[in-house]
Amino acid sequence: MAIYIYNTLSGKKEPLIFVRGKPLRLFVCGPTVYDDSHIGHARTYLVFDAFVKYLRSQRKRVFYLQNITDIDDKIIARAQEEGTTPKAIARKFTLSYFRDMKSLNVTAVDIYAPATEYIPEVTEQVQTLLKKGYAYEIAGDGIYFDVSKFEEYGKLSRRTIEQAEDAISRVDESVSKRNKGDFALWKFTRDSGEPGWLSDLGLGRPGWHIEDTAIAFKHFGPQYDLHGGAVDLKFPHHEAEIAQAEALSGRKPFVKIWMHTGFLTVHGRKMAKSLKNYITIAEYLKKYPAQALRLLVLLNHYRTPVNYTEKLAIDSEKSWGSILEFMAKLDMLRRHRKLTGRSQRRDAAHFVDAFHKALEDDFNTPKALAAIFDFMASLQPKIWELNPKSAEAVYGALKSALKSLGFELLFPKIPAKIAVLAKAREQYRKNKQFTHSDELRLKINALGYVVEDTPVGPFLWPSKS
Ligand SMILES: [Zn+2]
Repeated sequence: MAIYIYNTLSGKKEPLIFVRGKPLRLFVCGPTVYDDSHIGHARTYLVFDAFVKYLRSQRKRVFYLQNITDIDDKIIARAQEEGTTPKAIARKFTLSYFRDMKSLNVTAVDIYAPATEYIPEVTEQVQTLLKKGYAYEIAGDGIYFDVSKFEEYGKLSRRTIEQAEDAISRVDESVSKRNKGDFALWKFTRDSGEPGWLSDLGLGRPGWHIEDTAIAFKHFGPQYDLHGGAVDLKFPHHEAEIAQAEALSGRKPFVKIWMHTGFLTVHGRKMAKSLKNYITIAEYLKKYPAQALRLLVLLNHYRTPVNYTEKLAIDSEKSWGSILEFMAKLDMLRRHRKLTGRSQRRDAAHFVDAFHKALEDDFNTPKALAAIFDFMASLQPKIWELNPKSAEAVYGALKSALKSLGFELLFPKIPAKIAVLAKAREQYRKNKQFTHSDELRLKINALGYVVEDTPVGPFLWPSKS
């Protein structure tokens, strides 16, 4: 089956094309490392992590490249605030980003490419754009891309050059530009506090957009398969990338499919420190498990906006707990050798089919997860009637589905003390000493665990999971 993805460039769902022996080349815009990453960033990186893991689980090869913007005006400003160097700031927050990604089990990226390691590639591209007449220099200021020279400017975001003029960032500001929408390719170093690289262009630093094309050309060449990122990068960032790349190579399209993730708001508003609704990944993880955030993210289609609320976080944690509990029961059953009962193989096959169909249609994770929850709900009332073989089949199908989206089944450890109490209680029950067994049940409850009596023995689970 082909896997379809909505292409922002064409406005249509298009099949991913896999060429035998070659990986699908994916570039995703990484963080600008001037601050800790928040849960909005987490959304984008979790989506692409799950997406790539899913493709790989289907034996598709993917080369996943992500840049790290480690030189930027925001980094310079933060360094000045803190009385340190931009390099120290970039290093600190790159490490913070890696820590966060590790905590979230975001592990699918093949290469992280920091912009500052690609300065020769950047300057070479800027030289070429100057030579081809797409770029011009403003003395003492910088080198700019002339958007009026690139006829198709605006084709991704469907904006005209005039509409493009309102959305430029600070690095692109200059009164001497030819067009208001022109953006900086190279910014000359003007004072000693600014970092600069000596090159044929003069002492300076790269603009934001050119780093992505320099990194992509280096690893993928002038054309590749898939570019991902948050929807707010569509303009001007991705538009500028297309202009630079297609002007450089003369080949179209630079990228076949553009895949954009939707916004994440917190209690209905865009995250901002001044609004006190800014939640970093580390803050989230102090309260909730990482897998619950993955679930929260994937319960929404990647293109739709997500409104994060405390209730949503709590609900997702509960839902993840219910998946884990269900899987732990199946795990207990499949290890039990004596039981016989009905076989559920056919049900599992039906579920697997629904799960993949959803993901093949524009990576519809909410629909795929609904297939998981529906399947669980259909088995729940008769779960203890499953024979080990059926339990094994169901467990295997659910585990590989969850794993294909990057979920990990880490069951809570039941302390030895609780297990001992449960065993003693079993003995009392067998001897029909119910007062004693009830006492032990209460004791187990008081220690934060519940015990469920099943045909295969007592099932223990934390009461708050
Ligand atoms: Zn980017």
